[in-house]
Amino acid sequence: MKTTPLIGLEVHVELEIKSKMFCGCPADHFGKAPNTQTCPVCLGLPGALPVPNKKAIESCLKIGLALNCSINRLSKFDRKQYFYPDLAKGYQISQYDQPFCSDGYVILDSGKRIGIERVHQEEDTGKLQHTALNGEKVTLVDFNRCGVPLVEIVSRPDMSSSTEAKEYLKKIHEIIRAIKVSSADMEKGQMRLEPTINVMIETESGTHYTPMVEVKNINSFNFATQAIDFEIKRQIEEFEKTGIKKTANNKTTRGYDSVKKITFLQRSKEEAKDYRYFPEPDIPPFIIEDDLIEKLRLDIPLLPDQEVAVLEKIGVNQKDAKILVSSENKVAIERIKGLANNSNVNIQKLSSLIVNGKIDVNRDVLAQYNTHTKIGTTDRGELEKIINKVIEENPQVVAEYKKGKTNVAGFFVGQAMKATSGTADPKTLSDLVVELLNK
Ligand SMILES: [Zn+2]
Repeated sequence: MKTTPLIGLEVHVELEIKSKMFCGCPADHFGKAPNTQTCPVCLGLPGALPVPNKKAIESCLKIGLALNCSINRLSKFDRKQYFYPDLAKGYQISQYDQPFCSDGYVILDSGKRIGIERVHQEEDTGKLQHTALNGEKVTLVDFNRCGVPLVEIVSRPDMSSSTEAKEYLKKIHEIIRAIKVSSADMEKGQMRLEPTINVMIETESGTHYTPMVEVKNINSFNFATQAIDFEIKRQIEEFEKTGIKKTANNKTTRGYDSVKKITFLQRSKEEAKDYRYFPEPDIPPFIIEDDLIEKLRLDIPLLPDQEVAVLEKIGVNQKDAKILVSSENKVAIERIKGLANNSNVNIQKLSSLIVNGKIDVNRDVLAQYNTHTKIGTTDRGELEKIINKVIEENPQVVAEYKKGKTNVAGFFVGQAMKATSGTADPKTLSDLVVELLNK
């Protein structure tokens, strides 16, 4: 029996923007007194008319462009009807069959391409708070978040492990932050994750698929990873026990309990037809002009993977380049780029010193670099200690050397160089290694 998980991800990103999606209320709702940032539009009172937020739409288009999507020249909003206490209107304004962006992708480090089906715009709902009031169990509603601009990024089920899913999520997170449309702060709920999982099972009798499961509202990469792993195992076990297969209408929604580390059944999943989508009658369709797309494209900075490539090109090793880019250490990156043409500076050494905290990028970087790189020629005693430690830790390799395999000396040079964060002078180091090995 061969099993292949099929994992897709829906990512909701709350835009960091001044006002809500269809009204002038402030969009920054975090930590505000309940129900102080609402108006007839976001509460959906009779007769209120929504006015789309241009800045929010531009942010959505920018996300689409950064994720290699095509921008649909003709687009529109739709009403998605459902009843829930945190949705005052009884429907959510979203996009159904003509989203702003479609058919993009993200490339993982392995080179695997993860397809993005669509990037669309919608509005957030309010928040329910289950609590106690005068000793009675109650549920309170806060509508401050109602109408906050959201962008939903829907991937294709192209990931086949939780590791791939996590890498995809990290890349999306970095891109969103790099283009400055949101801080995507997971703790504030600015980025919410919904993995969709099922498993392809190949047996002697043929290829089968387990029923689809969507896990709702996860707010950490690790929880997403755990939920995916739990589901893969659970679905395979369920298939082995019951043989239940995916059908057109047995998709379910599950929640994730991060304490027990299990998923649990919430409800059977609504189909698109249950939401009875129809075009939002109060907002005319959009025609997106080429000029706007070009203007937004120019506004997109170097994306994280491109930045890593630039750093690698000037001599930073891939590991350090990734650390620098993902830690968003802009000053460090600028300092390294600034010294790229200085022939006295070994960029790999420099970046390694910076990544390892040996250089304070807010002080004279070149002076600090020079002090550190002197170690190889001046501090022979220090180097000797480092080399002896490597020799002690690797008796087998020493034995090989003694048997005449002299090229293993390179191993000791490499290890010792690593221990000095690449700061030692290579010639001094290798001479010393040979000397100590022959002792
Ligand atoms: Zn409002």
